[in-house]
Amino acid sequence: MIPYGRQWISESDIAAVDAVLRSDFLTQGPCVPRFEHDLRRVVGAKHAVAVNSATSALHIACLALGLGPGDALWTVPITFVASANCGLYCGASVDFVDIDPETLTMCPLALREKLARAARGEGKLPKVIVPVHFAGQSADMRAIHEAAAPYGVRIIEDAAHAIGATRTDGRVGDCRYSDVTVFSFHPVKIVTTGEGGAAVTNDPELARRMELLRSHGITREADEMRNAPAGAWYYEQTTLGFNYRLTDIAAALGTSQLLRLQEFIAAREAIAQSYDAFCAAQNLKRQKQVTGEISARHLYVVRVEQGRRNHVFDRLRDRGIGVNLHYIPVYRQPYFADMGFDPKAFPASEAYFDEALTLPIHPLLSSDEQAFVQSALEEELSR
Ligand SMILES: *Cc1c(COP(=O)(O)O)cnc(C)c1O
Repeated sequence: MIPYGRQWISESDIAAVDAVLRSDFLTQGPCVPRFEHDLRRVVGAKHAVAVNSATSALHIACLALGLGPGDALWTVPITFVASANCGLYCGASVDFVDIDPETLTMCPLALREKLARAARGEGKLPKVIVPVHFAGQSADMRAIHEAAAPYGVRIIEDAAHAIGATRTDGRVGDCRYSDVTVFSFHPVKIVTTGEGGAAVTNDPELARRMELLRSHGITREADEMRNAPAGAWYYEQTTLGFNYRLTDIAAALGTSQLLRLQEFIAAREAIAQSYDAFCAAQNLKRQKQVTGEISARHLYVVRVEQGRRNHVFDRLRDRGIGVNLHYIPVYRQPYFADMGFDPKAFPASEAYFDEALTLPIHPLLSSDEQAFVQSALEEELSR
């Protein structure tokens, strides 16, 4: 099966991990701070907190922003469930803002209207919103920020797909329009640490809270303690935290992978451009790319007209092509459906869900494999 995504591990990645295995520290050594330093430089944020997954990063970002019972978090339906679950972990309620039908990211107009309705008492204003940089393309962060700011809504960017991506006015991760940006280093994403994630921010207070939450809520800093340290052995737990730490083994892999970020994105872009030409020739609809911005090209999704998608999907799978569907709208998951969402409230997400088909894209996809995917799809579409 040609996978829709996979990691690309080099000999130098292996050497970097090997060196950690031969060193004194498998975790809590020098590699995590080094990886955080490299991340800050790559994405242009002042602080980085590396953790064991993007899911953990979303959780501690929500907690650091004070999200709790009685609060609400809004995200988009077309995302991985983790973008919504972080709100539930904190005891908050979750609601959704529809996507833009062309860019497939949070629709700023839908957000504006939903906020205005909530402010009038029709619904509940969110404390936090989580726009998602779908498939590697930044959401319209300036417009989202402008819509959210009048209500004091805090913003966490879910950039699980989008390390290395840019906006016309900055880099994904520079947090110009948000409080926190979250990345994933799962093997199908752009850069991998095995499992891993990070939260970046320009706010030193938020960074410090997230560091505490990552490691049991424990501090060894005297100025953060309630009592005077009774000795060098003394530490205090000042809040309820978790063990969300990244290992040094994983961080070393991350540092090594980050060196090739531009290579990964260039390889993905070349594949995407070949698909773009194919789509134009086949009259296939695809995600609109925003001019002047770089997408990390995590996913390549085409639209197959209603009613034929499932058939085409099955036929391509039968032929060894690992097509996929990103994503089932989160409100359709049984766990969320029980909360009483009406799919008709999200027409763009519903239309997308009926037609979406993810084609394989990853840096090791050969041109022969891509040609095979394209000719198989062309055949199935013409049946
Ligand atoms: C993969 C993904 C996550 C979760 O990442 P993990 O590192 O696996 O926890 C969150 N949000 C989106 C949009 C994702 O694609």
